[in-house]
Amino acid sequence: MKVEVLGAGGGVAPGCDSISLLLDGKVLLDAGTGAFRIPLDVAAGIADVVLTHSHMDHTVALCFLADNHAGLGTMRVHCLEETANAVREGFFNDRIWPNMENIRVEGKPMVQFKRIEKMRRKMRVGKTALTPFPVDHPVPTLGYCLHGEKETLPVITDLWDASAETWKWLAKQKNIRRIVIETSFPDGLETVARASGHLTPAVLQQRVEEHLPADWEVLCCHIKPRSAKEVRRQIKNRLGKRVSILKQGAVLHL
Ligand SMILES: [Zn+2]
Ligand SMILES: [Zn+2]
Repeated sequence: MKVEVLGAGGGVAPGCDSISLLLDGKVLLDAGTGAFRIPLDVAAGIADVVLTHSHMDHTVALCFLADNHAGLGTMRVHCLEETANAVREGFFNDRIWPNMENIRVEGKPMVQFKRIEKMRRKMRVGKTALTPFPVDHPVPTLGYCLHGEKETLPVITDLWDASAETWKWLAKQKNIRRIVIETSFPDGLETVARASGHLTPAVLQQRVEEHLPADWEVLCCHIKPRSAKEVRRQIKNRLGKRVSILKQGAVLHL
């Protein structure tokens, strides 16, 4: 699987876009501001968007992606029912944006939500294989294991914690050598991190050392742009060589 990192940030600033990963050139994992930079000819080939959760830094590009897709068939949005309802109420409400589920082109809706119900079960979106699993964040949120030929990569973009059952399940999965996981705020802002359901380097270290196999590399994402340098320094101090940053523009081959 080819994973193009269009955006990896926990916020938006020049050079820093919010989360959006393009899988095999066809499936978008989250529609953060990174998705605004997809060339039109590439966007025309993207008919499936998979969402982790409803927060705007992961969904803001949906309206424009679907708009650009008009006349090219239905854009399918795969997510939890709660996420679909939040996007319907927040964006596709005929006030902020037209209700694209109700607009039909040649009999087909512009947008269709596909509910993800089964947790920890492999699913396919086109040819792309992913396994969703629930994590704790202020709204219902999923992490995904991305299954490549050579490697399975867990991606957790937003996290405070997960159930003991999920951590145990994750640690047992085969073919994993690295994990993408968030670290939004520096240690000095733990109150903000905790209140908004995010990790600091100190809490990342706890989660990693308590729940994940010691030989997994850790790729941090979702860092707040203003705190990026400080977070980078703190995670290196805490986790040393096993940790690095998931950079915008990176391409991973799984
Ligand atoms: Zn979030
Ligand atoms: Zn986020």
